[in-house]
Amino acid sequence: MFENKDKGEIGNLGEFGLIKHLQSKISTSNERILKGIGDDASVIELDKGLVLVQSTDMLVENTHFDLSYAPIQHVGYKSVVANVSDILAMNLKPNYLHVSLSFSSKFTLDAVNELYDGILKACKKYEVEIVGGDTSTISKGMVISLGISGIGEKSKVVYRAGANENDLLCVSGDLGGAYMGLQVLEREKRIWSENPSVQPDFSGKDYILQRQLRPEARIDILDVFKSLDVMPTAMIDISDGLSSEILHLSEASQVGFTIYEEKIPIDQVTYQQAIDFNIGPATSALNGGEDYELLFTIAQKDFDKIKNHMDISIIGHATSKNESCQMISKGGSSFALKAQGFNHLN
Ligand SMILES: [Mg+2]
Repeated sequence: MFENKDKGEIGNLGEFGLIKHLQSKISTSNERILKGIGDDASVIELDKGLVLVQSTDMLVENTHFDLSYAPIQHVGYKSVVANVSDILAMNLKPNYLHVSLSFSSKFTLDAVNELYDGILKACKKYEVEIVGGDTSTISKGMVISLGISGIGEKSKVVYRAGANENDLLCVSGDLGGAYMGLQVLEREKRIWSENPSVQPDFSGKDYILQRQLRPEARIDILDVFKSLDVMPTAMIDISDGLSSEILHLSEASQVGFTIYEEKIPIDQVTYQQAIDFNIGPATSALNGGEDYELLFTIAQKDFDKIKNHMDISIIGHATSKNESCQMISKGGSSFALKAQGFNHLN
């Protein structure tokens, strides 16, 4: 379908369309490549039952972060978290990090130091070591490009592709907070730009601001799997919104999914903020993104092991290949899940 668009603008493809287009040009032949493009990380087979998992992520100023309200140290921290989260989504822990930075001349050495302080703090927290990188200059703004890797047991790796019909769909933590935090920050920025004498009002919003500005990755959930003796059948991290991640699991696993609006975990502060902004709370979870929670499926037989865990919610189940991905609303209607622009519920 892309042949006719070769001369078109890449904006027409969208991010996922562009990835698919580039993916179609790549074929791999090395037998050690267990997974190339198409999961949260690539998986390369080593000897002795081990694998190397690798992922990379690029953050561009004013596309992924806005330094008019995001403290630069937090930007550094969050950039590592986003990378760590992708390795966790494979059910392995990361070990090594490459850090490549590109700055325009407007940045001071202090700013670079602060950014690096944030990167180092996150590395300490997630026990990741920096082993290399690159620096360059750029005409405008800042680009942070990280490459993360981890070595672990091949038998522990969980792919997007393992979900079976009737598996339960689960998510860690709560969703939508990062998105609502972003909405608050954007609103205050607007107000401030119109009238710089007005002080921003962030009272009572600490939780959602932290979710947006300095999120954490769910390394603890891997230990939960271990202690509960549960092996997810498929997993992905939530960086682009629940809807979009469910569609990725669906495509990779060749199953449909049904989820229930009332089961989606949403924190009270997120919920109230969504109402105040006239956004459906479920919409903030489905479309928001940047929550860095883990979305995974488990076999029905593991239901008892996980059902009472405080920080894991069962939000739905996998259906047959012929069924699409849908959400049953609180009122009982069904809505198709879409990768972007889920606007039915307000
Ligand atoms: Mg991911």
